Amino acid sequence: MSFIVSPNTLAVSCYAKLNLTFSILGILPDGYHQVDTLYQSVNLEDRLLLTFDRDGNSIGFDLSKSKAPSGFPFDSKNIIVNSIKKYLQKIDTTIGVSIAIEKDIPMAAGLAGGSSDAAGALFVLNTYFENKLSKEELTALAIQIGADVPFCLHGGSMRGENKGEILTQVQHETGIFFLLAKPSDVSLSTPLVFKAYDERNRNYNQAPKRTTEAAIHALSNGNIKELAKLCGNDFESCVFEMHPELKLVCNDMKDNDALTAHLSGSGPTVYGIFHDFISAEVALSSLGAKFPNFDTWICASANRGVALMEPLE
Ligand code: ATP
Repeated sequence: MSFIVSPNTLAVSCYAKLNLTFSILGILPDGYHQVDTLYQSVNLEDRLLLTFDRDGNSIGFDLSKSKAPSGFPFDSKNIIVNSIKKYLQKIDTTIGVSIAIEKDIPMAAGLAGGSSDAAGALFVLNTYFENKLSKEELTALAIQIGADVPFCLHGGSMRGENKGEILTQVQHETGIFFLLAKPSDVSLSTPLVFKAYDERNRNYNQAPKRTTEAAIHALSNGNIKELAKLCGNDFESCVFEMHPELKLVCNDMKDNDALTAHLSGSGPTVYGIFHDFISAEVALSSLGAKFPNFDTWICASANRGVALMEPLE
C-alpha cells in the first residue's frame, strides 16, 4: 500500500460483494426490479485516499497517485465524485477534495466495485466531518446513489430486499473461502442484463423468498454445505446463454471440490465456495490451465463493507 495518511487525508478500504442468492420477484411501481438477495462482502478491495483542502472547492482525481484499469472514468461521471458532491450538498459545506484510488475490483463485473467506492467516500466524509450525519441519514443518502450502496456501507452478510436497500444483518461466525473468476475481456452492464432477463421472463412470483430465508438459516448455523445447496442467481440462465464459458468455469470449479459455483449479481464474475484456502488454490490451478482468458482471485468473507486504513508511520 503506497498511500501515506496525514491530518488532512483519510484512506479507506472498499470491499467487493457477492450475491449468494439473487431472486427477481417482480417489478416495483417505479419500474425498478424487486429483488431478494443474500449479500456477502469479500476481501477483494479498492483503496481510496481523500485529501481535504478547507480553502478549496474543486473535487477531482489526483492521477499521479491513482492506479485503475483503462476505461475507469477519472471525471465527474465517477460515482465517487457524485457521492462527495451529494454529501457536501447535504451538510451544506464547500471544501476541496482530491481523490486517489488504487482499483483492484474489476469494473462492471457484478461485484459492486463502484457502489463500494461510493460507500467508502461517504464513510470517509462523515468521519472527516465528525459524524455530522447520523447512520440513518448516511444510509438515506446512500440509497439515492445506488441500490447496492447501503449494503456496501455496512457490509458483512446481509439480506437485501426491495431494490436491495432494505437490509437485515445475518449474524454468524463462519469464515467462507471463495474462488472468483471473470473473463478478462467481458464486462456487463447491470441495466442491460435486467433488460435481457425481462425479454425472456414475464412471470414473477414471491416463492424464491423462501430460498433466501433458508440460506440465511444455514449461514446463521454455520452450515456452509447446506448454504451452498441454496445458493443461486436468477440471472444465470440468461447470462450463461450469452457467455457459455461461464457455465463451463462453474462446472470446472465443482469438479474441483467447490461446494457450489454461481454467478454474482449481473455478472460476468462467477464464484465457487470452498472448504478452505488450499482447496480453492487447487481449483484455481486447474482453472488457470484450462481457461487462461479468465482473471481469478481467492477471497475470504469479510465482516464489513468499508474500513478506515491506519496511518503509516
Ligand atoms: P453492481 O454489481 O452493483 O451492478 P458492477 O460491479 O456490475 O456493479 P461497477 O464496477 O460498479 O459495476 O461499474 C458499473 C459502471 O459504473 C462502470 O462501467 C463504470 O463506467 C461506472 N463507474 C463510475 N464510477 C465508477 C467507479 N468508481 N468504479 C467502477 N465503475 C464506475
